Amino acid sequence: MGNIRVLPDHLANQIAAGEVVERPVSAVKELLENSLDAGASEIRVQVEAGGKRRILIQDNGRGMDHDDCLMAFERHATSKLTRAEDLFSIKTLGFRGEALPSIASVSRLSLESRTLDSEVGVRIELKGNKILKVSEIACPPGTQITVDGLFFNIPARRKFLRKTETELSWIVNLVMQYSFAHLDKRFMLQHDQKTLFDVPAVKNVKERIYQHFGRDMMQHMLEVEASRDWLTVRGLVSTPNYFKTSRTHQYLFVNGRLVRDKVLTHAISDAYRGFGEGKYFPVVFLFVEVPSTEVDVNVHPAKTEVKFIQSNIVHDFVRDAIRQKLVSQPLTTDYRFRQKTPPRPAYMPARQAAFDERQSGPLFTESQPKTTPYSEFVAQVSATQGPVSEPLPVQANGDGAPLFESEPALMHPQVIGQFRDSYIVAQDRDHLYLIDQHVAHERILYDQIVAGLEQGGFEQQRLLIPETVELTRAQMVDFHALQETFERFGFDVGALDDRTCVVQEVPAFLAAKKVGDLIIELVEKARGQREETAVETIIDLLAATRACKAAVKINMRLTSEKMQHFIDQLWQSSSPLFCPHGRPIALTLSNDEIERNFLRK
Ligand code: ADP
Ligand code: MG
Repeated sequence: MGNIRVLPDHLANQIAAGEVVERPVSAVKELLENSLDAGASEIRVQVEAGGKRRILIQDNGRGMDHDDCLMAFERHATSKLTRAEDLFSIKTLGFRGEALPSIASVSRLSLESRTLDSEVGVRIELKGNKILKVSEIACPPGTQITVDGLFFNIPARRKFLRKTETELSWIVNLVMQYSFAHLDKRFMLQHDQKTLFDVPAVKNVKERIYQHFGRDMMQHMLEVEASRDWLTVRGLVSTPNYFKTSRTHQYLFVNGRLVRDKVLTHAISDAYRGFGEGKYFPVVFLFVEVPSTEVDVNVHPAKTEVKFIQSNIVHDFVRDAIRQKLVSQPLTTDYRFRQKTPPRPAYMPARQAAFDERQSGPLFTESQPKTTPYSEFVAQVSATQGPVSEPLPVQANGDGAPLFESEPALMHPQVIGQFRDSYIVAQDRDHLYLIDQHVAHERILYDQIVAGLEQGGFEQQRLLIPETVELTRAQMVDFHALQETFERFGFDVGALDDRTCVVQEVPAFLAAKKVGDLIIELVEKARGQREETAVETIIDLLAATRACKAAVKINMRLTSEKMQHFIDQLWQSSSPLFCPHGRPIALTLSNDEIERNFLRK
């Protein structure tokens, strides 16, 4: 007899479960999608212990009758796909008929359901995909599924679940994301009997953003809308000066389906190219609509990936739609940075790499036709003989002889003077620089602070009066996920109740700052990130806060020694061209551009 056997169903289901349900959030996703496919207008998600103990989803959708309730747990049983052709025009979120049997095979599951036209409902109890009990019950129309003890029968998987706060934070993020794809529905999320959010149906994305994130974020969002024959892009994107430190706040939807898609992600970063991109990510809520024949959703069992048939067209269209909106906004600088590689994280010093870019061409390029042309810029600089303070004796470079022969590549720019007590004017052999003194100093301090934090944190200081901070329940979830990280950085902070935390001790350099706002900002920035990324985010934000406060301001006269000192330190810093917030530090004019603008070439 041969050795090959067909896998028994329960084993096939457990294997499929490995693909479909990796952790509580993936089970929530599948159940949520089923409720949406069932046409529900209200969905309540209730989880306990971050979904590890219990996940309960209740909807007011069309429900199932007795037979369907049983059928739903058969492998590859679905009501959503009948013919092979249907695969090419999928409109529902589910279609593989794998989710329910998979989840049931790794949990204790109960299902209660009632269709509108039926008097009574059905209740089915399963354990590891074995049906234990089927009964008639009284229940409201719709479906309620309860998943207890996910992976109770697969210890190896259960062991890899993260701590409650982390698992929960992913669930919060997920349900929030779906609430953006389905504005006409009400979503409620509860954890351990507490309501984290309850957002009723709204008319537009703006209102949803307001429900979840409040006024502050709304003020930084720009509306994007564009369409061509078969492709529509609409949504909101953040202004070029409003960034997050991760992609957590990028919500991408294709035909209402939440996706993670490289084509779209790339199109977004392309659109922001030149706006301090790199480790700073814009906030994006983007809805792409294409005919179902233009997109393949069947590429991954978890169905977060899609494949556009004409991906180049989608990419360029999305990029241009966003880009057009961005460049039509008034900006603080007339020159934008044209950069070949993104700035690297500030705590990863890479001095030469950043410097090398400088050698390879002009750093700023003329942007939109409306902005100040180079010639005006040059005129502005040269019209400033007055305010230029304490000029260094600068050797004339009359006949094109190199000024700094000794180290032509590595020479730091030399100070010429100061413009309006705010900008350092400097030169090297081939460039004229205008350096923002505040931003430059910020970058220098930032690097010093990051080095300090990495070597074991800062002195702590006890607050005279402990500060209480009000958070939303959803923010509180992220707060708990971050608590240990806070402690590592010298905070003594704990939860007072389910909406309030109290700060007793802070890193000494923050003592004077409004700690409450900072805690909220940290919690928001680190939402949904893994611990490691959250730590980086916190380092970043603390250092940037500190650096901004201590840095010299504009309208402050500096000696040329001080200015030269700044430049020397700046050129040794991890990223001489970007401040910690992603703003440019220096404007540059190359010799070549100057000559062209004076019509010498
Ligand atoms: P799929 O969603 O891929 O069809 P599932 O295993 O997730 O597969 O669900 C199997 C079937 O059970 C669905 O096709 C649907 O008919 C039914 N079903 C699941 N959840 C619900 C629900 N909340 N309300 C109504 N029907 C549901
Ligand atoms: Mg499904």
